[in-house]
Amino acid sequence: MKILRTPRSVNKLSTRLRSEGKIIGFVPTMGYLHEGHLSLMRTARKKCDSLFVSIFVNPAQFGPREDFSEYPRNFRRDKQLCEKQKVDFIFYPQVNEIYPHGYSTYVEVENITNILEGVHRPGHFKGVATVVLKLFNIIQPHFAIFGQKDAQQLAVIRKMVNDLNLNVKIISNPTIREKDGLAMSSRNVYLNTEQRQDASVLYKALKYAERKILKLDYNDDLDFIKKQMWKLIKSRATVTDIDYISFNEADSLKEIKTLRNFRKGRLLISLAVRFGKVRLIDNLIVPIKH
Ligand code: AMP
Repeated sequence: MKILRTPRSVNKLSTRLRSEGKIIGFVPTMGYLHEGHLSLMRTARKKCDSLFVSIFVNPAQFGPREDFSEYPRNFRRDKQLCEKQKVDFIFYPQVNEIYPHGYSTYVEVENITNILEGVHRPGHFKGVATVVLKLFNIIQPHFAIFGQKDAQQLAVIRKMVNDLNLNVKIISNPTIREKDGLAMSSRNVYLNTEQRQDASVLYKALKYAERKILKLDYNDDLDFIKKQMWKLIKSRATVTDIDYISFNEADSLKEIKTLRNFRKGRLLISLAVRFGKVRLIDNLIVPIKH
């Protein structure tokens, strides 16, 4: 496994690999790797000749009051984990390699970034889309793998790839969870013991909604379910805020208020909840077929 620090060295390498006919797979991450990231690597490993993983805490996707400087980092450990997954190349750039002095070009995916996470994290998806496009240009992968855990991010990347005619296939992987259902996240290390216990309520609320929706009679709207989820989550003492609970079509992210007109498709139930300073997101997709 080789560690590369500059866009130029990666670009030279990937150009050569492509000319040799190698299939390049790519897993973008912000590091502090957990089983969720490793599952993406395992999926990618099976489909490519050369596997690139990027480890880059992208300042452009953090708001001014967010946790960029406190975001957990441990490159030594990450390196060992990548090695175990038979990663070929880690791209581990410094911030000034990606955003050199005077940097001024950004990607703005309109509309689907104005809802859900976009409301609570203004500018977040501009930072995500920009860095992902840059990484695609640097690494030139045939495919890239993203987690369903960040459902809106996945929808934004798919939209960007489609709108900008990018020559890269986007693959999604299911969310990996702890035993009690909590979605794995690098941010889970911020949770204290009580918060960690309470955080399992997010998956419980999502599963409750899934059960209800699968049984729902068409005249019912989704408001009742949302209120019940709200109550259930709020019943945990360490929950300080619920940013949103939402029902949307999984690709377009069009909001769904009632199942009356939504008889077929993938219903995304998503939420964002704060436990003090720690903000967690999670989601489930319910396939609807009536
Ligand atoms: P991050 O390092 O948090 O930016 O995540 C890098 C990639 O890993 C993204 O595509 C995430 O959606 C994915 N990911 C993060 N957590 C999980 C998880 N629990 N299960 C599956 N994928 C995940």
